[in-house]
Amino acid sequence: MTNIAFIGLGNMGGPMAANLLKAGHNVVAFDLVKTALDEFVTIGGVAASSAASAVENAQVVISMLPAGKHVAGLYLGNEQEKNGLLMLLTKGCLVIDSSTIDAQTSRSVGLYANDLGIKFVDAPVSGGTAGAKAGTLSFIVGGEVEAFALAEPILNAMGKNIFHAGPAGAGQVAKMCNNMLLSVLMAGTSEALRMGVENGLDAKVLSDIMVKSSGRNWALEIYNPVPGVMDGTPASNDYQGGFMVDLMNKDLGLALAAAQASDSAVPLGQKAAELFKDHGAQGHGRLDFSSIYQHYSSKKV
Ligand code: NAD
Repeated sequence: MTNIAFIGLGNMGGPMAANLLKAGHNVVAFDLVKTALDEFVTIGGVAASSAASAVENAQVVISMLPAGKHVAGLYLGNEQEKNGLLMLLTKGCLVIDSSTIDAQTSRSVGLYANDLGIKFVDAPVSGGTAGAKAGTLSFIVGGEVEAFALAEPILNAMGKNIFHAGPAGAGQVAKMCNNMLLSVLMAGTSEALRMGVENGLDAKVLSDIMVKSSGRNWALEIYNPVPGVMDGTPASNDYQGGFMVDLMNKDLGLALAAAQASDSAVPLGQKAAELFKDHGAQGHGRLDFSSIYQHYSSKKV
């Protein structure tokens, strides 16, 4: 049993913290939203009045926040005032940041933590809110081997696949690479299916052909973007649930910034980002990302 401070009880953090409680850990949580804390108390958690008080007896701190600026603000605080949360932790404490953020912020927090004798891993997740509730998330971890070994048993209470990608920041880079590829696969699959349909083919027949041919890929096999082709997909449920276009746009923004920083050529990633951005701007940001299929008509793209 470990004393864990959990910061950020949102759509993902709420169910993740609940799974830590179920696994028998002592969890003290903080969120800026009081209703999130109230809900956490009803399932046996402890609510703190601030992030600082949440970490008072913590051996492990986990954060699940929206973006890099929130993570930097929490852990590093104001540079002059040195009022970040890292300053309040005892040596040997482990920090796990599971937010999806830019790799540079993860590296900065990791370096500062290291200076203070605190272990740090970035551990962004894949699996969405359904995976967070079911405790089946994939964690893609960046950090030193020793920090990874300490984080692994904690992450096992919230996830199923725990990967070590490399040093601090590597988890974020691996997640961005995966999601950029996913956006390209989904856009490409939608493009091919739309072209087939506009040439008189049946989307299901064409999908069956391509899934047994060299165009086979995850979007085609597991997550077909055409309504009615596959049961249980967001496409067959008015593109509700799943992974929102807004979140894909956030991840593609991070991927393109990383590509620019490393001077990497990502022409397909750039094109996919453009398509998803246009789709979101047309009022579809809250639909599942496979709704990019609807964006594919000669009138729109
Ligand atoms: P969310 O907006 O639902 O939750 C974020 C929570 O953080 C909110 O409750 C907010 O009040 C709280 N918060 C913000 N700043 C805070 C601070 N300084 N102190 C305490 N609490 C603070 O977001 P989410 O959907 O839970 O996503 C969290 C992270 O996980 C994001 O980085 C997102 O990209 C990533 N992610 C989300 C999904 C998904 O399907 N929702 C999937 C994979 C990864």
